[in-house]
Amino acid sequence: MSKHYQVLARKYRPHSFKELVGQMHTVQTLINALDANNLHHGFLFTGTRGVGKTTIARIFAKSINCENGVSSTPCGKCSTCIEIDKGQSVDLIELDAASHTGVDNMREILENAQYMPTKNRYKIYLIDEVHMLSKSSFNALLKTLEEPPEHIKFLLATTDPQKLPVTVLSRCLQFNLQKLTDSEISGQLKYIMQNESLDFEEDALNQIARFGQGSMRDALSLLDQSISYGNGTVLVKDIKAMLGLVSHDDIIKLATHLFNQNANEVIEFIRDISHRGDNLTNALNDLSSLFHRISIAKTVSSTSIEDEISLLSSKISAQDLQVFYQISINGVKDMPLAPSEQIGMEMTLLRMLSFHTDITNYTEKKTVKIKPKSVTKIQTDNITDAKNFSSSDTNSKLGILNNDSWEQLTPTLKLSSAAIIIVKNTIIESHSSNLLTLTLDKEFSGLLTQRIQSEIEKALKICLGNVTLKIVLNKPKFKTIAQKEQHANNTKNAKLQERFINDTTVKKIEQIFNSKIDMKSIKEI
Ligand SMILES: [Zn+2]
Repeated sequence: MSKHYQVLARKYRPHSFKELVGQMHTVQTLINALDANNLHHGFLFTGTRGVGKTTIARIFAKSINCENGVSSTPCGKCSTCIEIDKGQSVDLIELDAASHTGVDNMREILENAQYMPTKNRYKIYLIDEVHMLSKSSFNALLKTLEEPPEHIKFLLATTDPQKLPVTVLSRCLQFNLQKLTDSEISGQLKYIMQNESLDFEEDALNQIARFGQGSMRDALSLLDQSISYGNGTVLVKDIKAMLGLVSHDDIIKLATHLFNQNANEVIEFIRDISHRGDNLTNALNDLSSLFHRISIAKTVSSTSIEDEISLLSSKISAQDLQVFYQISINGVKDMPLAPSEQIGMEMTLLRMLSFHTDITNYTEKKTVKIKPKSVTKIQTDNITDAKNFSSSDTNSKLGILNNDSWEQLTPTLKLSSAAIIIVKNTIIESHSSNLLTLTLDKEFSGLLTQRIQSEIEKALKICLGNVTLKIVLNKPKFKTIAQKEQHANNTKNAKLQERFINDTTVKKIEQIFNSKIDMKSIKEI
């Protein structure tokens, strides 16, 4: 199958405007100008790589030099058309400024523009990445552009028009080529596969199109690769294996663990896909896309919603989604800096988990100020004698602690995010004299370290006096704080949600996130 490799992009390079995919506006304008024979002398095509800048320029060159006359439908058969297609036309001078910067030769070539074409109607300069011309070459180009001889046409292409001098911009007709849509790309891929009589799954082509990110050239080179990889077929499983893609179902699973605040499952899941050799940066990107889809489903009523999206959407607030989205795209950005992809992904997801917890507090509880020496601001409905929580005494105040007051006490403990997750997943097993025994939901055993246990013990000492902490792993006999919060979160009524959606704009969340907010400063609206 190696014969296919790298061949498709060249084989299927469009030879006429009709064969061209996308860029409708540009093409129509050029067709109109050609058919009316109303031609400017300078054309500038801008757009990212692989969107068809030079392809359009070459078709245009044929259109004006075809031996059968200027038109939008060059014959493709005369010697000039054939020479242009083969890159052998003497009057089409193709220059790549990216590889010729500073070369005197380039300036000379441009200074020679005044001489008549050798064979054809027009002498055409096709200059790719024109923004990279050297200063002297630019001057030569400008001189010609200012007073262009009748027989000269300049076709300039660039990915970076901002770097062009205004004097050049103002002398050219400018066409901004758009990135191709996924469906424009996948349509062309399908056409090619059918034309080549090769087997494929449509979903596989869609994946390739998505990966092309608007560039037909990139998508075609990926198609070439996958044809070689699949020995003549293009299947979803091969694309996934080739690119290390995490399946859609897996991304849904990961989001479900995350929304359930199931830290253990989240970490285990990341380790699994990492061991499989999957592309974690890409998985994080897919997760961001999923957050986007859920957000849309939550806020735009007219969209039809798939069951899985609707289920996920019921587990999370619009605000959390905004924060998660920010964290995930920042996670992608920071991925190259992480010691490994796995660590980068784990830290990103843990960050979401910790923010999730805090934001749950924010939406469901009154703001609680931490005052180690006094806890009078805590909601104390269930605490038999709140004053006894004062730490001014050296003796422990464990005697008044029960699971209701535990829930009230925990938000006042000054703890790291990781320790908060642990505390929220415990219940009080027993206490006697100075020993407090907590049962930690064994699902979270993986997150418990000696350091976190010490941290919790220290925080408890501030509030309760002399306490020794023991944590046992088991299935809690009744609901932990985290489980209660989850339950409350799931059944939050729509009005409350809407109130927050209306009060908190995306910008505010972004602002909150970027400025590394002190979560304690958030007040209930
Ligand atoms: Zn021709």
